[in-house]
Amino acid sequence: MTESNESTKPEEAQQYSFKAETKQILNILIHSLYKDREVFLRELISNASDALNRFRFAMLTERNVLDPDTELCIRLSINKEERMITLQDSGIGMTKDEIVENLGTIAQSGAREFLEVAREQQDNLAQIIGQFGVGFYSVFMVAEWVRVTSRSYKPRAKATSWFATGEDNFQVASADKAERGTKIEIKLKEEAAEFAEESRLREIIRKHSDFVSFPIYLGESEEQVNQRTAIWRTSRQEVEDEQYDEFYRQLTLELEKPLKHIHLVTDAPLQVYALLYIPGKEERGLLSLRKEDGLKLYSRNILIDEYAKDLLPEYLRFIQGVVDSEDLPLNVSRETVQATGMMARLKKILSGQVFRELEDLAQKDPEKYRVFWQEFGGYLKQGVATQPAEAEKIYPFLRFRTSLNPESWSSLDDYVERMSAEQNVIHYLVGDDPKSILRSPHLDYYQTQGMEVLLLTDPIDSFMLMGLRKYKEHELKNVALAAPEEEKTKKDEPEEEKKVSTENFDQVIERFKQQLGERVLDVRGSNRLSRSVARLVDPEGSLNPELQRVYRYLEKDYEIPKKILELNPASQMLSNLLGLKPESDLHKLVIEQIYESALLVEGLHPDPAGIVPRIQELMEAALAKYPPEVE
Ligand code: ADP
Ligand code: MG
Repeated sequence: MTESNESTKPEEAQQYSFKAETKQILNILIHSLYKDREVFLRELISNASDALNRFRFAMLTERNVLDPDTELCIRLSINKEERMITLQDSGIGMTKDEIVENLGTIAQSGAREFLEVAREQQDNLAQIIGQFGVGFYSVFMVAEWVRVTSRSYKPRAKATSWFATGEDNFQVASADKAERGTKIEIKLKEEAAEFAEESRLREIIRKHSDFVSFPIYLGESEEQVNQRTAIWRTSRQEVEDEQYDEFYRQLTLELEKPLKHIHLVTDAPLQVYALLYIPGKEERGLLSLRKEDGLKLYSRNILIDEYAKDLLPEYLRFIQGVVDSEDLPLNVSRETVQATGMMARLKKILSGQVFRELEDLAQKDPEKYRVFWQEFGGYLKQGVATQPAEAEKIYPFLRFRTSLNPESWSSLDDYVERMSAEQNVIHYLVGDDPKSILRSPHLDYYQTQGMEVLLLTDPIDSFMLMGLRKYKEHELKNVALAAPEEEKTKKDEPEEEKKVSTENFDQVIERFKQQLGERVLDVRGSNRLSRSVARLVDPEGSLNPELQRVYRYLEKDYEIPKKILELNPASQMLSNLLGLKPESDLHKLVIEQIYESALLVEGLHPDPAGIVPRIQELMEAALAKYPPEVE
């Protein structure tokens, strides 16, 4: 024991021993070096704020209280030379029995769980402390000794002091304290001297306790350091747009204004205050305060989790903001909160509200929704891919480029509305980029029929499609799949246009087979081509092309299955090909180029630049045919 302890210890002090688990906790807190030691102040302020709240509550029913007119506040003062901090509140206070009970024993379950988690998560201790109701003891991360002097609000109660160094015992004695409330004196360890600086304390309070609803006065000047107004607890009508933006700026330090704020104030089924933001940009600013995803979770104005990740589904993790619920017990473990289903219920309420507001945005401000989609659409697609149970809920929020409307964004409903009466399938095509996909030979048939095709060129689209096989009663179908028999309607046969007679066309096919050999599964004619000479398709019953892409992303060595080369019987070029001898160089060059061009538009060419020398040869051959036009 230190000297100052001896000299200040009242004579009639009673010695108590901490409970076994408390000893273990104290041992962990004292003997480890934690980078986030500053949270001790948050914990003490949180207790003070609780005590003030409880006093306010007691006032509702009890008239006979000590100092009824004292301001409800928290005062913090420093003695730098002595390395002392003193924190006082005018809250409900504690009687002697309460002090012994509250500061000597801990709710058993909380303590045990804390110890278990603390053993595994040494680095995260500061985050854990608050969640396990062992908050008060965190003061021993910074304290050499602590004295708590408290006087209950009950008029006849006497003041009591509690003293401990963090070792096995604590002392309790009667004390002199005229006013109601609790005073906590902390003698800082030498290595914690930084906390005897006003500027440091001010910084910690602003960071962790800015929205505590009682004023916190600091130092001799009694400057109020916390902002107090919990804007999320204010009714929507009373908050100006600029205030919402300003709060977002303080919360995130983002320069970009938020795209939208979502302010939720509700009493049922849970009491929840939430102020959520859709950021203006997907990318976090360089100076962003928010280093991780997750929402700030408050309970009774006390920050209990800086980055609560369980409050929204993962695919809405781009949302920033604050959630505050009185129904969330501060002094139980996270596991217990989850066990009671509290977090799940909160999550349901919050994500429901987010979806409602997005729907509203899409309807009332399509331009803004477009910005939202361009910044955050990828997250929703990820949701469709990874959360099959929620996919259907997300479908209405998806937007697509299409073959007929490549410049704008269409919803699935837009698409379905534009479908003709005979069409019952939603067509899509997966490609590498928005420009080249429009040149895909797979679109030929649909262009001539005036049928719209969704164009998917985002790498995540292939994954999204795994969770999007049907919208309303319409199946989704990849137009790159060989058309099954029943779909080949009479309209498909452009008989009169055929440039190559059936007999000759068989010959063309034969020549391609000869030349390409093993490289293709088959060569055949197709009535699905108009602008294009050829295309590659998968045999029926093979893996969907987008799944092949998924495999290609996931496995480096994945080999794309061999394809069928389909030729356009109406192609003048193919008909001309028959005029060449199969052994001629030009004949070979043309077939090679047709095949490789098909690979190229499919995004499958292993060496796109490799076709340049052949194109050169083809140009030379073409030019050689013509006599010089000028002398
Ligand atoms: P928790 O706040 O989660 O209950 P703590 O370890 O932070 O756990 O505090 C233990 C208990 O000590 C509190 O529940 C409260 O009863 C009592 N206590 C702590 N600080 C104060 C205070 N300033 N005024 C009154 N009671 C307090
Ligand atoms: Mg506490």
